[in-house]
Amino acid sequence: MATLLDQLMQKLEEKKSRIIEIRRYFHENPELSFEETETASYIADFYRDKDVTIRTNVGEGHGITVDIEGGKEGPSLAIRADFDALPIQEETDLPFASKNPGVMHACGHDGHTAYMMILAESLIELKDQLPGKVRILHQPAEEVPPGGAKGMIEAGCLDGMDHVIGIHVMSLMETGTVHYHVGASQTGCATFKVKLQGTGGHGSAPHAANDTIVAAAQFVTAVQTIVSRRINPFNTATVTIGSFDGKGSANVIKDSVTLEGDVRIMDEESRAIVEEEFKKILAGVCSAFGIDYELDYKNDYPVLMNDEALTHMVVTAINEANIPEVDEVVDSGPETASEDFAYYAQERPSCFFYVGAHKEGTPYYPHHHPKFMIDEDALMISAKTMAAAVVYYLEKGVLDK
Ligand code: MN
Repeated sequence: MATLLDQLMQKLEEKKSRIIEIRRYFHENPELSFEETETASYIADFYRDKDVTIRTNVGEGHGITVDIEGGKEGPSLAIRADFDALPIQEETDLPFASKNPGVMHACGHDGHTAYMMILAESLIELKDQLPGKVRILHQPAEEVPPGGAKGMIEAGCLDGMDHVIGIHVMSLMETGTVHYHVGASQTGCATFKVKLQGTGGHGSAPHAANDTIVAAAQFVTAVQTIVSRRINPFNTATVTIGSFDGKGSANVIKDSVTLEGDVRIMDEESRAIVEEEFKKILAGVCSAFGIDYELDYKNDYPVLMNDEALTHMVVTAINEANIPEVDEVVDSGPETASEDFAYYAQERPSCFFYVGAHKEGTPYYPHHHPKFMIDEDALMISAKTMAAAVVYYLEKGVLDK
């Protein structure tokens, strides 16, 4: 009799066109984070007549969990796919381009959800043979902090689960390549908004005003020293002022300026240093210029930490499965993006890996670009690599390091 993995691969192969069909449906009907009503009901409906336990509205948004109870004893694995889209006007000429103006699946979450549904269906058909339990986490709102993962965890989506695995398709990595990294794999982030409030006046009488443009300019320059002078050169951090609201009239001294920006770090110690120095510089500059301020500084997604033993298991599983569409499995090094999958990884040993989705010889665009596109061959590769990881996990467990 064929092995469990062979049977699973066979099923996925037979369902190839359905993965594409579902992905195109999601692509055509994208919904913004925390507003994914139709997407969530499409997913929930898919499982209605199947022999599983479904929970809907898990967490703050439209989260769904699907429990597949294996016929044999074994460990419990959660596997996650996100399903939200972005506030971007699509500029592809795909026949299934977004029908919702200003909203687009420009990160590949449509593909994540499509492959996951078909993988789940295939696992359900083989559930009597599964030695353990698999919980599918269909997660909303990855794109907008605080994100969907946090609320789902608070609502118990990891209760009874031992480990978590997730995939992201990557438009800048070649189709056929699979990438992983052990340890700190994606940056943690923070965002801030600062309003400086001075006293405006006429350009001919600067001594009678407190100029927020001058103070804000000093502040922007001074925060550049956080990374260059306060962060250990072997650590990673960025501080970006992405918005400086300084528009006014030529001869008027502006009484208020609002700045907004973003922080990325690769370790939690650097996160604390950036925040402390940022606040110190802000207070110091404002005091020197006689300016008041309001600060909204939010720490968002944590650093994504991939568990060493589980990640090595995933790599071994994919290599041993000899998936014909996979050419190589390589260490990508850390990525500068941030992901709310990091919250799962804080709770359970986890692995988040990448599936290349750029077909050689075709143009490619980064994630969140209006022309973003994925090679649909990456969807079957996602399904098969995740299938290999799931079966290996259930049958053999996580290896010793
Ligand atoms: Mn994404």
